[in-house]
Amino acid sequence: MKRILMTGSRDWTDAQVSADALNATLALLGVSAAEAILVHGGAAGADQLLAQTAQQHGIATEGHPAEWGVHTSRCPAWHHGLDVCKLAGHRRNDAMIAAGAEACLAFPTHGYHLAEGEDRARTSRGTWDCAEKAMKAGIPTLVVWGKDLYPFGDLGAEVLRRRAVERDLTLGGAGQLPILETWLPF
Ligand SMILES: [Zn+2]
Repeated sequence: MKRILMTGSRDWTDAQVSADALNATLALLGVSAAEAILVHGGAAGADQLLAQTAQQHGIATEGHPAEWGVHTSRCPAWHHGLDVCKLAGHRRNDAMIAAGAEACLAFPTHGYHLAEGEDRARTSRGTWDCAEKAMKAGIPTLVVWGKDLYPFGDLGAEVLRRRAVERDLTLGGAGQLPILETWLPF
């Protein structure tokens, strides 16, 4: 079984790009749906959408929901008394990565860097955290953008197209690779 790790925004809604990305990953790994397992965080948005898509395609799924109500000995003292552990998502990401994967797919809705005045609260912070950790763990990590989400404009899209050609990837619509890049923190 090939493990496909995924991480994504709670605001992700693009089912077609999600399905294209999964299919493209199976092709890149050279496996059938029955030989793959989607490892996800069980959160709303991208996680649930991808898990559904995987199940529709006959790909097994493995959820790792974060334990938001649990503090650990590594939590700072100021966590005591908080109902929600702010580190639970990070612990979950660490555990998913430690379990190993052949590839990681990241579905952000915001860029790696914040726009002027943007608040990090709802801007794919957890997605970038997981993608960064996966990359550091040596897991090939692909950042997948919804077609209306790519935040770097026409010039950025052209750079991606050129990189894809260099890597012999085909970018396109339904059934082809979605807009996709190998990891690079812009
Ligand atoms: Zn805590």
